[in-house]
Formats: sequence, structure tokens, C-alpha cells
Amino acid sequence: MAEAVRTTCPYCGVGCGVLVTPQPGGGYDVKGDPDHPANFGRLCSKGSALGETLSDDGRLTQPVVDGQTATWDDALDRVADEFKAVIAEHGPDAVAFYVSGQLMTEAYYVANKLMKGYIGSANIDTNSRLCMASSVAGHKRAFGSDTVPGTYEDLDLADLVVLVGSNLSWCHPVLYQRLAAARKERGTKVIVIDPRKTATCDIADLHLAVKPGTDVKLFNGLLTHIEGLGSTDTDYVERFTEGAEQAIEAALYDAPDIRAVAETCGLDPADILDFFKTFRQTEKVVTVYSQGVNQSTQGTDKVNAIVNCHLLTGRIGKPGCGPLSVTGQPNAMGGREVGGLANTLAAHMDFDEQSVDLVQRFWGAPNIATRPGLKAVDMFEAVGSGRIKAIWVMATNPAVSMPNANRVRQALKDCPFVVVSDCVADTDTAAYAHVLLPATTWGERDGTVTNSERRISRQRPFKSAPGLAREDWAIVCNVAQRMGFSDGFNFAEPADIFSEHAALSRFENDGSRDFDLGELSTLDASGYDVLTPVQWPVRDGTGQDRFFADGGFFTPSQKGRLHAVRQQPPEPAVDPFFPLTLNTGRLRDQWHTMTRTGKSPRLTAHAEEPFVALHAQDAQRLNLEDGTIARVINGNGEALVRVTVDPGQRLGEVFMPIHWSHNNSSHGGVGALSSAATDPVSGQPDMKNVAVRIEPYGETWHALVVTRSSISLGRDIYWAQAQAGAHVRTMCAGVGKSDTAFTAFKAKFGDGEWIEFADPARGRLHAALMVNGRLEAAVFIAPHNIFPERAWLDDLFTAPETDVSQRQEILAGRAPGGQHDTGRIICSCLSVGLKTILRTLEDGRAVDVDSLGTVLGAGTNCGSCRPELQALVDTVMDAEHAGEEEQRAKVRMA
Ligand code: SF4
Repeated sequence: MAEAVRTTCPYCGVGCGVLVTPQPGGGYDVKGDPDHPANFGRLCSKGSALGETLSDDGRLTQPVVDGQTATWDDALDRVADEFKAVIAEHGPDAVAFYVSGQLMTEAYYVANKLMKGYIGSANIDTNSRLCMASSVAGHKRAFGSDTVPGTYEDLDLADLVVLVGSNLSWCHPVLYQRLAAARKERGTKVIVIDPRKTATCDIADLHLAVKPGTDVKLFNGLLTHIEGLGSTDTDYVERFTEGAEQAIEAALYDAPDIRAVAETCGLDPADILDFFKTFRQTEKVVTVYSQGVNQSTQGTDKVNAIVNCHLLTGRIGKPGCGPLSVTGQPNAMGGREVGGLANTLAAHMDFDEQSVDLVQRFWGAPNIATRPGLKAVDMFEAVGSGRIKAIWVMATNPAVSMPNANRVRQALKDCPFVVVSDCVADTDTAAYAHVLLPATTWGERDGTVTNSERRISRQRPFKSAPGLAREDWAIVCNVAQRMGFSDGFNFAEPADIFSEHAALSRFENDGSRDFDLGELSTLDASGYDVLTPVQWPVRDGTGQDRFFADGGFFTPSQKGRLHAVRQQPPEPAVDPFFPLTLNTGRLRDQWHTMTRTGKSPRLTAHAEEPFVALHAQDAQRLNLEDGTIARVINGNGEALVRVTVDPGQRLGEVFMPIHWSHNNSSHGGVGALSSAATDPVSGQPDMKNVAVRIEPYGETWHALVVTRSSISLGRDIYWAQAQAGAHVRTMCAGVGKSDTAFTAFKAKFGDGEWIEFADPARGRLHAALMVNGRLEAAVFIAPHNIFPERAWLDDLFTAPETDVSQRQEILAGRAPGGQHDTGRIICSCLSVGLKTILRTLEDGRAVDVDSLGTVLGAGTNCGSCRPELQALVDTVMDAEHAGEEEQRAKVRMA
């Protein structure tokens, strides 16, 4: 048996350790690393399925220049020449890099060094701007540095955990499991503050469904309450903080009493009082927050409103205490460390004169940037207006993920020179590239990442890269050298870069800067190779777990600053044309634009299509039926998505997931709708609070098309594609005649024998294409979104031949008798579907989540589905209590 390679999960900011073992017959066994302090062996559904996402299908394997494959030399020369020419003619600010929290720290470091130290501009920004820039800005205002004060262990030690704008259960599942375990073992109280009733509420003692964008008011109310009832830690405040008086004054003005808070936040005063009292009376409190706080036009103020409450009570830096920002991406923190944000310079230093001088001397930089560059939204505005004439996009897909994505697409289209380095050939952004550079990906990369608790871990390669793909750090160094900067980019391997990065963090650092990896600067290649996870700072060979229990802030006075904040009127203003508020976020089993998770059939089975979730009364008022297609519209663009009635939505508020692009759907991209309004301090766009209206699409037919490979359907109808093993499922809907649609589908295929059954009276048409006796495609068209069982169809596509009875079953559109429909997959690890779970609960074979595990295995592996299992148990038990057969039928249809 081959030895396991210790590496780190490439998805969220929890940064779980992973053991990957090559299997004798091919493939890889993926397990959680029991020795990694972030996860102690646990993995969520995405991490558990990593082994299924390693195929090289869809990879970019060769450089491409102007649509033609090219040699590396030609491609690199072209990039270097174009950048040099633009800089020579228009100056360094006419070029930009847009990078990613997916990059290894080493690649981030050299990209930042090239732009800020050698090109002489700070126009390098990262997609992490969309995820946690407000936390950075809030930390710097409060602590004088971008320091995460606490650690994951605090979740085990806290007596109260407040989750603000964080669906931890789906977005940071292993931390959620850790919290759920602590709650079970020691009764940790959990309060969730979120406009939506998410899966995380499964473990909540209290859920405050706060109106979007009103968190400042709520936490100002808490500050007022703490101060008013004499719960201030006066000793801590006097010795270690400043600004308390002004912050309290602002809070008192903003949120004088609970009634004022209730009115603005749309909450029950009794629930607010419950939250305030619990916070005030509990010594060990951790407040976890993520995108629901950060992605807001007042994101930085929200962060400071939260941090103020911890500073006023001295609940920071002690075991089980503190604010904890959790990042969305695997290396958002590494990007922050190297200076991957346009408004930071390097190694947690900014553009003050002293830092610019220090970094310039350390790098020997010929042309150091002296002022911040353009943040993401402004950067793409500048591309659109022609101020930026050459942009290099690394490991990210802004045509999908940026707000107001249609404008970003247009900007990229109009930009004179676009470079994209990526591991995937066919992304929405790659379509605009003049030069495509093939990069390595997880499993091939060698480097380090930092998770949300400041822990640096290694990503180690365990397979070779396909074709000519290269490491991102090497590509950047190749281009830098061709631009004439060979001295600063002569790195032979990532260990050399890491050691320079560590040395910069130590350079003239007398403890005045939080980020210090000094002891790691002497690591050689073999030391780097065996580096075990370590929290920074690393000044004496070991990490430091917590900050600020005894002051020691990084402000000039070394005191923590309470920052006076006031609630601003939340955007969007009420608009009669767009009266609904759109919130956006992640799904449990998908990651970003699905280029990796989309390869795993069991992950895609959890949610196959883009959807909009809304309250039943809104659905009824808008004439939207569950399962039909809706048009979601605003001034920026529109989306076509499936309607999902969701009791967890507040009236007037809707939710859409972020994962769909033009690559896997006709119009599922939420970026087309989201606003480019940003927080004035952090520059982070508000993706959680977008004004929209929703109308029925008015489809006259629905179709399920199953094929051996994906088919291209244009954008005249609604469609969404999901990988289902060796075949692809495409869900479609359209307006017009269904037989016209069928003719259009048929035209997508080559020769073969079509068998067809039409029932015009019921609007149904079932057809299959046979090639040499094997099922090549199956098409089912119906007036409603009700189609044959997926698992049965999957089996037909794995069979080498389709016999007569199977052909008849296809034409009948029915699985053979006795074969039950499993429904949408709830437990991805063991492929247990919704309908199976409901049958098991309804016939009494299981009565709770644990017995579902015993009978079906559901929820017994990674545990990510346990909140959904609990919700189903509750629904069935409620229905049984009330005898509500109708309710059950609705659930069954979901
Ligand atoms: Fe990966 Fe899941 Fe761990 Fe996040 S919680 S790092 S997605 S295994």
C-alpha cells in the first residue's frame, strides 16, 4: 500500500487536513487527517468527495494564444511583451492582476511582489475582496492590524457561541460539527443571527431572523445593554482600550433601547432581550461571523459593532472568548498575509512611508508602489472604462463571481489584453482571454495555505499535472523574468519563496507587527517538506494561539480601539419596481462555480439546479408554483431559476445560491443581479441585499434530457446541467410547443435509432436514442416538472446494452414495478435520498436522526446532512401530530 500524503482541503477556510492514499487499481482514497488541529480527522461532504473530483476532464493542458495552442515560450513572451508595452505607453497603473484565495501563498507572494515591487502599481486585488475585506478593515480599525484574535479551540471552550451572518452548517461544516459536539457534551448555547432560517438553526437555542443589513443596530443595542447594566469589564477597558466613551455614546444614540432595536431589526423585543441577557451573563462568548456580515455596504461597521461588544466586556484573547471571522476560501488568509489586497503592501504592512521604505529595501525593488491600487469592483470598472488595458486573472472566474457580472463580462470583452491562468479550460472568464496559461490544481500543487485561525498548512502534490500545466508561482516568475526582472524571481522551488516571505515578515519586526514567521525563514527544502500545521506568529519556533487578553494591540498606543458606529439605512431602498430583497450564498455540497465539486455525482445530486427560495405567501402572491421556473429581474440583469418554497425565508426576502454560470446553466448566475455597491471602508461589495422582482417564466413544457456528454443548448430556453456519473442530466423548460423543443433536442445528436412515444393529450413525449444497442440519450418532455426516477435512469446508462423491456420502460417513462424513487439526495456520502428518508420516517422504522442513521446509514459519515435530516424528522413528526397529509405530500414533491 502506498503511503498517504498529508495535504489540506482546497475548499473552505476551515482548512481541514487530508490524507490522500493512491490506490493500487488507480484512484485515491481521501480521509480526514486525525492529527490536523483544524479537523482532527473530520471532513464534510465536499472534503469526503475529493477523490471523485480528480479526473483531468475539462483541464486546460496547453497554453493558448489568440485561440490557438502555443508553446510556453510563445505564450509567456506574449504576456510579458504586452504588459511591458502597456506599461511603457500608459504607465504601471494601466495593468492589473486579479488573483484568488485559491492560490498558494507562494504564488500569491510572487504575484504581489511583481506588481507592487517591480511593475510599480498596486493594482493587484483578489476575489477574497468579495469574501472578507470588511473583516480585514474592521480588524485594522480595532486592533491596528489584521489579526484574528482567537482560535477554533475557542468553539470547544465557549459557553455561548453567537453566529452572525454565517450558515456554518453548510459553509464551514467541520466547525459546525465541532460546535454541535461541544453543545452536546457541555451544553454550549448557540444563538444564530441570520435573516434566513438556515440548516445551522438546527442547533440554535435562539434564532434572530434579523432584517438584512441591520446588524449594526443590533450590536449597538447590545453595547448599550452591557454598559447600561454595569457589565463592562472596566479594568480591561481602562488598561487596554480606547474609544469606549465615543462608541457607547454612538450606540446610545443609535440604539437607546430594545424597542428601537426591535423596530429597525424586525425582531421580537423578547428575543432581543434574551440574546442581550445571555451574552451579558455568559463569561465565555465567541462571536463567529462571515459573509452575512462582510458582504454589506456597512460590512466594516458591522465587524466593529461586534468587536466593540467583546472589547467592552474584555471577552477577547482568553480561552473560549472572542470575535472569530471565518473566511470562505482556503487561502484567503494567506492572501492577506502577502498583501494580495490592493490596499495592503506586504506582510501585513500598508502604504505608510516607513513600510514602503522597509519593503523596498528588503526586496531591492526597482519600482515600488507607494499608494493603494484599485479594489476589485473599481478594478473592473477601470477595465470597462479603458483605464486598465491589460489584466491577468489568476485562478478565478470574475465573469461569474463578480457583482454586476454582465458589466464585468463586457469589460473583459472590451479589454485590449486579457490573460487567464487557470486549471480549467472552459470557464466563463476564459472565453475572453487572449492568452490562456494552464495551471496546476489541488493534488498537483506544492505550497502553503493559511486557515481562518492563522494556521499555516502544507498542500502537497500526490499526482502529476496533465499536459503542460505549471505551478502558478512558476508562471508568475517566468513572466517576471521575461519582463526583465530576473533577480527578484529566481526561485527554484516554493520552499525558497516561503522562506523569503517568512524573512520579510521578520525584517525589522521588533514585535510592532503581528505577522511574523521569523523562525520559519530558515527552513530549507526538507524542513519545508515536513512542515506541520502551525499558527502564526512563529517567533520562537512555535505558534501563538491567542492575542489581546492582556492588551498588546498593534495600534500606536497599543490599545484596542472601540470604534463608534451607527446604523445606516440598509440598502436597497424600497423600490416599487424591485420590491423583494435577494440574499445570496453557498450550498452545502458545492464550491464556487462547481468546476471541481461539479465532477462528483453525489455532490451534484444534492441540488441539481439553480433556484430561488421564497416564502409561501410571496410565492402565492406572485403566482409562482413550487418547481416551476421564475424570472428574477433587476436593473443589472436577470436570471431564470427553479422556484423553491422555503418556510425558512422571511416574507419579502428571497435567496439564490452562487454556484451556477453560463457553463452549467442558461441563466443561473446570480452575479448578473448582484449589486456593485460596496462598503466605503473595505470596498467589499454587498451581495446579500439586492433589490429584485420575480415573475413566472411562463414555461409551457419541462424536459429532462440525459446524455453521455454535455450538450450545448444556447440561451433561448431555461436549462441546467449536472454530472451524474458517466452521463449528464440536463433539466430544461421553455415557452412554445414541446414538439418543436424535441426537434431541437434531436438535432443535437448524431446518427442512431430514435424510439419515441408521444401522448399529445397529456403533453408528454418520451424518447431514446440507441447507438449499437446502447442507450445514448433519453428525453422526457412533460407539462410539469415531474419525471422518471433518476437512479433507474442512471442504471440504464451504465448498462452495456438496452434490452426490449428496458426500451419499453423508457417509453413508458416508468421504472419497473417495486423500484422506489429515492428522490433528491440528502446524505451525499451514502447516497440516501429525500423520498427514502420520508418513507422510513412515515412507516415508523426511524423516529429521529440517530435511528435514520441506524436504518439507512444517513448522516453517519461526515455528518453534513444531519441538520437536513433533523428538519425532515421535525416535518414528519409535526405532520403526524397535526394529521396533515397535505403537508407531507408537499414535502414529498420537493
Ligand atoms: Fe474542506 Fe469541508 Fe473542511 Fe471546509 S469543512 S476545509 S470544505 S473538508
